[in-house]
Amino acid sequence: MARSSGEIREAFLRFFEAKGHRIVASASLVPEGDPTLLFTNAGMVPFKNTFLGVETRGYVRAVTSQKCMRVSGKHNDLENVGRTPRHNTFFEMLGNFSFGDYFKVEAIEHSWELLTECFGIDPSRIAVTVFREDDEAYDLWRKKIGIPKKKIFRLDEAENFWSMGDTGPCGPCSEIHIDFGANSACNSAVCDPACDCGRWLEIWNLVFMQFDRDAEGKLTPLPKPSIDTGASLERLASVLQGVPSNFDTDLFRGIMDRIQEISKIKRGANVEHDVSMNIVADHTRALVFLIGDGVLPGNEGRGYVLRRLLRRAARHGVLLGIERPFLFDIGDAVIDEMASAYPELRDRRAYITSRIQREEERFLETLSKGLVRLEEDLAQLEKSGSKVLSGEAVFKLYDTYGFPADLTADILAGRNLKIDEVGFNTAMTAQRERARAAWKGSGDKRAAEIYGRIASDISTQFSGYSALAGASTIRALLVNGESRDVASCGDTVEVVVAETPFYAESGGQVGDRGTLRVSGGEVKIADTQRPALELVIHRGVVTEGEVRVDAEAELAVDADARAATVRNHSGTHLLHAALRSVLGSQAMQKGSLVAPDRLRFDFTHDAPVDDGQIEAIEDLVNRWIEQNVPATVREMSYPEAIESGAVAIFNEKYGDVVRVVQFGDFSTELCGGTHAVATGEIGLLKILSESGIASGVRRIEALTGLGALNHLREQENALKAASELLRVPVADVPARIEKLLEDRRAAEREIERLQSAERGEASKDLSRDAKQISGVRVVAARVAGAGAKELRGMVDDLRSQLTSGIVLLAAETNGQVSLALGVTKDLTDRYRASDLIREIAMVVGGKGGGRPDFAQAGGSDPSKIDDALERLEELIAGS
Ligand code: ATP
Ligand code: MG
Repeated sequence: MARSSGEIREAFLRFFEAKGHRIVASASLVPEGDPTLLFTNAGMVPFKNTFLGVETRGYVRAVTSQKCMRVSGKHNDLENVGRTPRHNTFFEMLGNFSFGDYFKVEAIEHSWELLTECFGIDPSRIAVTVFREDDEAYDLWRKKIGIPKKKIFRLDEAENFWSMGDTGPCGPCSEIHIDFGANSACNSAVCDPACDCGRWLEIWNLVFMQFDRDAEGKLTPLPKPSIDTGASLERLASVLQGVPSNFDTDLFRGIMDRIQEISKIKRGANVEHDVSMNIVADHTRALVFLIGDGVLPGNEGRGYVLRRLLRRAARHGVLLGIERPFLFDIGDAVIDEMASAYPELRDRRAYITSRIQREEERFLETLSKGLVRLEEDLAQLEKSGSKVLSGEAVFKLYDTYGFPADLTADILAGRNLKIDEVGFNTAMTAQRERARAAWKGSGDKRAAEIYGRIASDISTQFSGYSALAGASTIRALLVNGESRDVASCGDTVEVVVAETPFYAESGGQVGDRGTLRVSGGEVKIADTQRPALELVIHRGVVTEGEVRVDAEAELAVDADARAATVRNHSGTHLLHAALRSVLGSQAMQKGSLVAPDRLRFDFTHDAPVDDGQIEAIEDLVNRWIEQNVPATVREMSYPEAIESGAVAIFNEKYGDVVRVVQFGDFSTELCGGTHAVATGEIGLLKILSESGIASGVRRIEALTGLGALNHLREQENALKAASELLRVPVADVPARIEKLLEDRRAAEREIERLQSAERGEASKDLSRDAKQISGVRVVAARVAGAGAKELRGMVDDLRSQLTSGIVLLAAETNGQVSLALGVTKDLTDRYRASDLIREIAMVVGGKGGGRPDFAQAGGSDPSKIDDALERLEELIAGS
């Protein structure tokens, strides 16, 4: 009866498909458009708007195997992972959903049928829980299914009321547990499924979704009660394969083998080693899937979670005696295991493993230093007799050595010590605030509610792939976010119609602009947006008369702007294909902006793209343009599309039916955007710039069509102007400029030579005029047009001409005084240049200093230069 996890996943999906459910592909681990949630943490997350009635889909029953992460927020299992048999950070949640269709009866019947008939679990091993007040669910299990009373438990809200987060859809639930029989280690008075003794294993949770909870905690009934269920593949597999934990299932076999091979430690020999192996295996699965979904290590938000997981895993590697980067190797084993279910991992293999390796190397460099520091802290701690490491110490480890607090806590846990979490949090407040601000969301909830209401009874058809104009009825108007029947001249409006040729911003392509006309009124549309899947909002200003709900409108897209956007969008696809061809398939799209006047393309790549590569990319794209290859656009299911080699984009959310845009055999992408009929339309693609925008992410900006021509023309005009000024043909401009620069350098050298000759002459004159004071030859003179550097040169000249003597030169530049003073070596016992200059500088209101044989000074009073020169003579005469 032992089934492989692949078979379990497949059987689950097929079972519900046969019961009228649509099989929907897993969404990304990064939830789209939900800033309140770091990661998808349950199968229902991608359907949140469907449950809330904001979004409608072409079906009312769905079944999925959804990638989930529970490492943050309301559902955080991080501390449990590796230590309990049943918790993972990353896992796959199998679930069936009813969107206002069937409710409790079918949900309960289906689950029972699947577990007992299809999976063959002995009914006597099953126990269920219901929410204390949910008599309906109790009766269904008791009477309809026939579960004996002693196997049905009524539990409180803490156990049997499910919510996705602090706000959002929620409701009472009913959990299905496997009962492993009374456990001698259990010492609680009542051992029910809420007990943690190991007797019970929750495998499936059926949520009867009835409410939406708002920020104040108020529950509002959902438009139609719905069903959301979740059972992890990992737990089901552990039960159906009869193994003691998720980590002993076939999902982990290849991964554990690799860990044992590298560490040369056998599983089952030592409890702590087993825990470390579990953590390494679990966290590496999470790393692979997170990086595969476009998350990169960072210091905030999702990136920081990724970094923490990697560091914990690396640390547990050290506990297994592995002190070199190895997680990337485990990542390879994860991809081997999971690629049949997630083929995109295969394409991203090199990218994912190299990311892991790099981050690992970075961390291992500081790990040992950090551990030394921690040992010092712990020695101190022991002396003080405390069992709690201070918040500052924890923060210091975090800040200097990159030790996440949970890593430090994990290390301390092994020695029965704790960290001062409050103290750490205080020290972290600044960073936390920053991170929180970034995730707080935009406060768009009210707008979302209004759109939600509109979207629940209006859906907009898009006709703009083929048409740029069309007629339709106005279904709703919003002015300042309020629903209105009429909008008048000057109003800023949002218009909803039944069918529109306007493309709403998505997939990087900006929304269309244009005009909407009714009899007696006109709206200039500046932007088009899609706040819900089937709701299109035209934003603009009423420029004439008024517009009313139910009026017939003529909609016309700005055709020039659209055509320019189309060129840029198709250009982006060719650019993407050329990047992958020239740089390799690790160059994956990270984001893009496609507007009428420009295109921007962000992609993953580790090094700057050099000029030769840029040229090769431009050549390739323009050759494809020249070939005028027609576009083919097809619709198909997501798995079919991936199967056919289409490139899906990180973090994009795709429906079940996807659009595949293909140009020849070089570019196939999932894309909902508008495209050229054939590549020739693009005309020309010219790359303007290439730069780095984040670690491992590059950005290219480019132009197409007439935009590219205009850019080239501007450059040409600048060159022409240069050629006219230089009076040479354009082709000779660089050589001419080079020649001019060379001439200039020669002229500068000549000037320098003449000046120094002139100074030489001047020095000679001065040395001839040297005075004898107290038996010392003294030159004290003013020099015109010299700076500090020239003065120094002249002082040197004069010192050697005098053989023995003292020289003081002064110059004035820009109202400031420079002084330089030299003493020949034979006299430095009697006259120290640095002492003399101090006295003299005071005369011109300045300060100075230097060595015994040479000193310099500045001053602010040029009118006192003569006094300063005299002062030298006084000083020598007086000494
Ligand atoms: P537990 O109390 O065991 O942590 P839960 O109450 O948090 O479970 P739910 O939020 O109801 O679980 O999630 C639905 C299902 O997802 C569970 O029945 C279980 O099969 C699975 N599941 C939940 N958390 C994990 C996890 N960390 N690792 C693996 N599977 C999980
Ligand atoms: Mg849990």
